[in-house]
Amino acid sequence: MRYNLGDVITTKKKHVCGNDQWMIERIGAEVKVKCTKCGREIMMMKMEFDKRIKSIVQNEKHITT
Ligand SMILES: [Zn+2]
Repeated sequence: MRYNLGDVITTKKKHVCGNDQWMIERIGAEVKVKCTKCGREIMMMKMEFDKRIKSIVQNEKHITT
């Protein structure tokens, strides 16, 4: 699945705050994402992150990849 900086993605598992949408802030060996609801930032290995992505939301439109 392809995504870019600034994209908003949804994850299969919700954050503790109940939100499942995250903004991509950094892409590298590790990906940094920010919860769009509570603002919490987390980093995880890109391979792990890719497995958790459910869909990509960009400009409030669902893009099929
Ligand atoms: Zn959150």
